[in-house]
Amino acid sequence: MRHRRADRAGGEATGSSDHRGDLTMPNALLTINAGSSSIKFALFEHGATAQRLIARGSIEGIGEVPRFIARAPDGTTLDRYQWKPSAAMDHEALLEPLLAWLTSHLGEKALVAVGHRVVHGGRVFHRPVRVDQAVLAELEKLVPLAPLHQPHNLAAIKAVSSLRPHLLQVACFDTAFHHDMPSVATRMALPRVYTASGVRRYGFHGISYEYLIGQLRKLAPTLAKGRVIMAHLGNGASLCAMRDGRSIDTTMGFTALDGLMMGTRCGQLDPGALLYLQQTYRLSAPAAEHMLYHESGLLGVSGISNDMRTLLASDDPRAGEAIELFVYRIVKEIGALTSALGGLDALVFSAGIGEHAAPIRQAVCEGLAWFGVECKVDANHRHETLISTSRSAVRVFVIATDEEAMIAAHTARVMRDLSPQPAAA
Ligand code: ADP
Repeated sequence: MRHRRADRAGGEATGSSDHRGDLTMPNALLTINAGSSSIKFALFEHGATAQRLIARGSIEGIGEVPRFIARAPDGTTLDRYQWKPSAAMDHEALLEPLLAWLTSHLGEKALVAVGHRVVHGGRVFHRPVRVDQAVLAELEKLVPLAPLHQPHNLAAIKAVSSLRPHLLQVACFDTAFHHDMPSVATRMALPRVYTASGVRRYGFHGISYEYLIGQLRKLAPTLAKGRVIMAHLGNGASLCAMRDGRSIDTTMGFTALDGLMMGTRCGQLDPGALLYLQQTYRLSAPAAEHMLYHESGLLGVSGISNDMRTLLASDDPRAGEAIELFVYRIVKEIGALTSALGGLDALVFSAGIGEHAAPIRQAVCEGLAWFGVECKVDANHRHETLISTSRSAVRVFVIATDEEAMIAAHTARVMRDLSPQPAAA
């Protein structure tokens, strides 16, 4: 099946693309974000100073009915394909036709590197790294810290290694941006025997936050040096408090389950409630994990959907309750992070809900009216970049995130660092 797909896409992968560092020829970079049931990718032309998007897309439905779609930068569909239902079409089996499709769309360009989103860098990795066997072995050790994400990230790295052994691969970590948070923000109030073994707050969504602070620096450089809270509100949702562009605290912690209420994840939860559920409902650890990650959040409270669009369009009171709680938790956590920052200069909304759901942004701003946040209603409805009034004590922005662009930029930087430097005259 996959060979037929590869033929359709213009031939098998050649494994001949090792032009790293040669910026005189047109090159291309690939980014991969591999999750449990999807692989998101983006292909960039790699120039001497910048990366230009060529195509982006995804394979969804891995393990069931895998569906491939690729789009041009303007959103038009370049190609789509659906495989027959098959559990055998795992990450490795699907990366082969994906690389073949990409090869057939590269033209004169050579694929020189792949940048991967890797959810956990632990205490060791605080910036993107070239992946080799030693790095991979370290990343494997972190699987227990992110069992639902890390294995899929690493599966994609291993699949590319076996399909294109000479291709440079770079790992970019969601935890890295938070690596230098003040130690008090990383500490958990548990016996030292546990915290010493790595049970601490790490924080996630760091690739998105790094991209967003870069965008804010371009829009408002002075504000970006101040006290900023970023709200990444997608299926996963978190807040990050930044001072001078650095993370000083964030709502996700040891895992990506903590903090805000999310699409299907509970967010912050009284640990006593979990103990009660385990004892009273005889919930096993895997059953509890499934419930907290996949059946809670907007989906659990509404009993209808994890999709904010569906909930906003619904007149079912349970949808209203789910939205009310989602907003309440954001407002409450912004209050807490504002205290950690000692005030607030700018608030940034981003990701699916943050970029597109005007009523949610409006409700959050209304919840923050007590300290002078004022949303400009028409600008908010038009999803303008600046949505606060001139009177507002805090400037409020809507900025689209682009994790793929950040991964591509990091991958290019690692390549430059690896390139031999010209000898000094
Ligand atoms: P992921 O974390 O999977 O990358 P996204 O950033 O794409 O998620 O965000 C997905 C969320 O964004 C979903 O809850 C979806 O309903 C919401 N969303 C997307 N577009 C809109 C919209 N126009 N209005 C309201 N919510 C939206």
